[in-house]
Amino acid sequence: MHLIETRELTHVYRGSIRALESVNFIAERKARIAVIGPNGAGKSTLFKHFNGILKPTSGGVLVRGEPITKENLREVRKFVGIVFQNPDDQIISPTVEQDIAFGPINLGLDEETVAHRVEEALRLLGIEDLRERAPHHLSGGEKKRVAIAGILAMEPQVLVLDEPTAGLDPQGVEDLVTFINRLPEDYGMTVIFSTHHLDLVAEMADFIYVMDRGKVMGSGTVEEVFARP
Ligand code: ADP
Ligand code: ADP
Repeated sequence: MHLIETRELTHVYRGSIRALESVNFIAERKARIAVIGPNGAGKSTLFKHFNGILKPTSGGVLVRGEPITKENLREVRKFVGIVFQNPDDQIISPTVEQDIAFGPINLGLDEETVAHRVEEALRLLGIEDLRERAPHHLSGGEKKRVAIAGILAMEPQVLVLDEPTAGLDPQGVEDLVTFINRLPEDYGMTVIFSTHHLDLVAEMADFIYVMDRGKVMGSGTVEEVFARP
């Protein structure tokens, strides 16, 4: 059984934009998967199917072998956490600490567990010193870390990151690479991300999907995808 699988997944937005066309995608436990391709290739649209934010026009999405339904949507969203490209969309609280606590509180966890998860997330992202700050006044890179910490505090098994390296300075990128690489080893997590930084893909991913105009043009290990003549 795969953690996430799409079968001939097709998504047509209102009107007639065919954003995904028969996409077959598989994510296994502890995998690091990069989805690459130009703007408009369908990467974000694909990600939004992983936790039921969008519904397939045709084809299907299986999470732990089960289709996403009204009944299991909450469980699916606990299992698959998505950090979107624009961190402002996910920041809602007056302080960083409260912002990160929002997800775990929503899951109905007790106060002590929430506090513990917030600490862990602050530490993992290296943002302990930002805890009292107002998220809206942080830099883009700091906001990004807060957004990732907030999703991480819900302890998803699968972490999906839409363009996590966009707008980061070189140190920020390096920290992110280190962070992503720890998740499968230390926490048994699966990481799926899109990026334009092709130079980083070899360091950050075991498996790559190449998308263009809604289709998967190729997939394979880093060696397979980049070694083509
Ligand atoms: P990527 O993440 O690879 O840049 P997207 O999934 O964002 O690609 O977009 C795929 C296609 O779907 C593009 O043509 C885009 O303009 C279109 N699209 C994305 N979101 C919407 C939307 N909410 N309504 C209509 N079209 C959309
Ligand atoms: P509704 O439209 O039914 O209110 P939402 O899509 O707003 O549903 O969210 C339902 C649940 O999923 C909420 O508990 C919310 O916190 C959670 N959720 C929303 N977005 C994400 C995400 N990107 N990753 C993980 N969980 C999310």
